[in-house]
Amino acid sequence: MFYKKNLLLTALVSLVLSAISSSVFAAEVNVYSARKEALIKPLIEQFSEQTGIHVNLITGKADALLKRIESEGRNTHADVLITTDAGRLYRAKSAGVLTRIQSDTLNRAIPDNFRDPEGYWYGLSVRARPVFYVKGLVDPEELSTYESLAENQFKKRICIRSSNNIYNQSLVASMLAVNGKEKTQQWANDFVKNLAIKPKGGDRDQIKAAAAGQCDIAIANTYYFGKMLTSKKSNQKQAAAAMAIFWPNQNDRGTHVNISGAAVTKFGKNKANAQKLIEFLSSKESQRWYADVNFEYPVRRDVPPSDLLMSWGEFKADSINLNQLGVNNTEAVKIMDRAGWR
Ligand code: FE
Repeated sequence: MFYKKNLLLTALVSLVLSAISSSVFAAEVNVYSARKEALIKPLIEQFSEQTGIHVNLITGKADALLKRIESEGRNTHADVLITTDAGRLYRAKSAGVLTRIQSDTLNRAIPDNFRDPEGYWYGLSVRARPVFYVKGLVDPEELSTYESLAENQFKKRICIRSSNNIYNQSLVASMLAVNGKEKTQQWANDFVKNLAIKPKGGDRDQIKAAAAGQCDIAIANTYYFGKMLTSKKSNQKQAAAAMAIFWPNQNDRGTHVNISGAAVTKFGKNKANAQKLIEFLSSKESQRWYADVNFEYPVRRDVPPSDLLMSWGEFKADSINLNQLGVNNTEAVKIMDRAGWR
């Protein structure tokens, strides 16, 4: 009996000791990232060097990571969630797995429209989703707005990926915010008639299809264009070189933009370190690298974009709060479905 008690005591003491040591000594933060490892690892290493906080990085698809956080519940290993679309950060917030961040540093660094109004997530880099056209084949004078792409003159001339892609859902969500349900439904019904081919592949495939003569106009995120222009693969490089960017809606709300951003999980055990990491990624020093490595725009206004992005010209970006993209997501998906956008 005495022996048993003693054993129990020893177990208890070691448990308490390990709890103390893990909370006091083991400075760490666990990141679930939908942003690819190569696009974040070097900065994370710099963060660890500067702060002594060890970062464990798990990368994967955003929806899978979110599911994992949800199923791990209170025992989640994730402290930080990084996604490449505001719509998914909104999903995470709605799923109840995030906690509010209170940080003057982040509020000062990141413009209002690129962060959750309640502080549940923050944008860290910006991507635009403009129109690309085949040089020499399309007169940019023909182009004006996303809305105009539903007009008859663009019949069977447009390439765009499937409606189950969140980038397109967010684009339609942004249109819903300004044009309302009825107009957006009508737009989608007509826009679908203007698709040259059945939606397939990713954004790069749309640019490739246009360069190959399958359509005149493609819609894609800017960083894919940057990656293609600088690609070692000659087919990608050539396809991109055949295209030019047109910034739509410059006379009204501006071109649709989205963010890659981060949030702190509700049940993570290292909240302070999680916030420190996000603040580090938002710093002036980090911002340029974080954006450049994926051909994105820095989220901070006081950090200029890379030369390549500058060469595409300045543009007016839609200033809608990106939280709206999440709010309108369900309706946007319904509209696209009803329009027969595959
Ligand atoms: Fe992407």
